[in-house]
Amino acid sequence: MKWTSAVVFGILAAAWIVLGQSEPSSARFAEASPPLVDGAAMRPQTFDARRAEEMRAFPAAETEPGPEDRIITVSRGDTLIGILTDNGVDRASAHSAVSTLRKVFDVRRLQIGQDITLTFKPSTDGDQFLGMALRPTPDRDVLVKLDDGGSFTAEEAERALDRRFAYGAATIDSSLYEAAIDANVPIDVLMDLVRVFSFDVDFQRDVQPGDRFEVLYEGFDDEFGDRVRNGDIRYAAITLSGKTLAFYRFTPSSGFVDYFGPDGRSVRKALMRTPIDGARLSSGFGKRRHPILGYTKMHKGVDFAAPSGTPIMAAGDGVVEMAERFGGYGNYVRIRHNSEIKTAYGHTSRFAKGIRAGSRVRQGQIIAYVGTTGRSTGPHLHYEVMLNARQVNPMSIKLPTGEQLAGKDLKKLQALIPTIDAEVDAARAEASVVASNEGR
Ligand SMILES: [Zn+2]
Repeated sequence: MKWTSAVVFGILAAAWIVLGQSEPSSARFAEASPPLVDGAAMRPQTFDARRAEEMRAFPAAETEPGPEDRIITVSRGDTLIGILTDNGVDRASAHSAVSTLRKVFDVRRLQIGQDITLTFKPSTDGDQFLGMALRPTPDRDVLVKLDDGGSFTAEEAERALDRRFAYGAATIDSSLYEAAIDANVPIDVLMDLVRVFSFDVDFQRDVQPGDRFEVLYEGFDDEFGDRVRNGDIRYAAITLSGKTLAFYRFTPSSGFVDYFGPDGRSVRKALMRTPIDGARLSSGFGKRRHPILGYTKMHKGVDFAAPSGTPIMAAGDGVVEMAERFGGYGNYVRIRHNSEIKTAYGHTSRFAKGIRAGSRVRQGQIIAYVGTTGRSTGPHLHYEVMLNARQVNPMSIKLPTGEQLAGKDLKKLQALIPTIDAEVDAARAEASVVASNEGR
């Protein structure tokens, strides 16, 4: 366990904008993006001194020696009670404080690397424990403190964050993925971007060098101007061989947030063309010589080469029919989308949490991870589309188009578009100023 001690006196008075007093901001988070792939967004916060001041459970009294803070970084094997008793808190108080904290924080979620601020009142006959505070997610603080009556009370506060728009654009030299990384688009935003385009774009075949993308997305900054997390994409466009597809985030009267083209057509199709991000099409549909068995065989799906563990998404809304070992397919998932269409996913390493026969899945939801189970020569996704129980070529099947806004919804979207366009114009102008300054 490592710990640092920060003894801070009355100068802190100004910093008590603190816990419990920040303005309610729940409305702002109501549209927060869905959980992102494997923890891309949330990481335990590491504190600097500034944060430590802000996170103290107790303000310092000006007349007597102030409370003392110890910032403890959670190490492997630590428990909250252990941390407290190691710091001289008696067992009864430690248990009481932790059970109080449970009201606002699931202590099993304590993460290695997480910082906890313990506050003590220095005293010659043993420091008195006053409370503790931690920040489980970048926008939420929780704390426990000793009240006047000598018992612990819990508090939590959502931090007020400023929403700002961030912008990224680049010419694609090799892949959208590399172009977006080069343009400093965060990985969680990139994953969303791929998802927005994946209904229309076959990344393997459609993207050529010289194509471009552009994205405007939300970022949430703390009171120091530091980016705490990224939000939703507001606008995304991709230009393929001179033709631009642009999509705007909009919530129609149905209440389901989606991305729409200027004509009111939803980006969402019955099926995604590529149910996996950033993968290479390694084997097409049709006759091929079987690499293991040696004879010519009909390949009833398409293969996407991707590293083991790459998330596989449900190509459309539907109900899982199978999620189990299935002969040469290995760990196999099959989804029924409607009375005619099913999709199947083979050789996966494992199923995503909650995926079993009967589970209802949303388009783009992660259902499994790439592997090489069953009859397979290396990590890849074997993907099949079945139309009336017969496998068809996923790359050439004509996909039904998505929702088309009409009436009031279409009018509302079209009223919103000039606002977003103006935001994009402003971001473009700012980006070009930055670029020309960098070029000097
Ligand atoms: Zn295959």
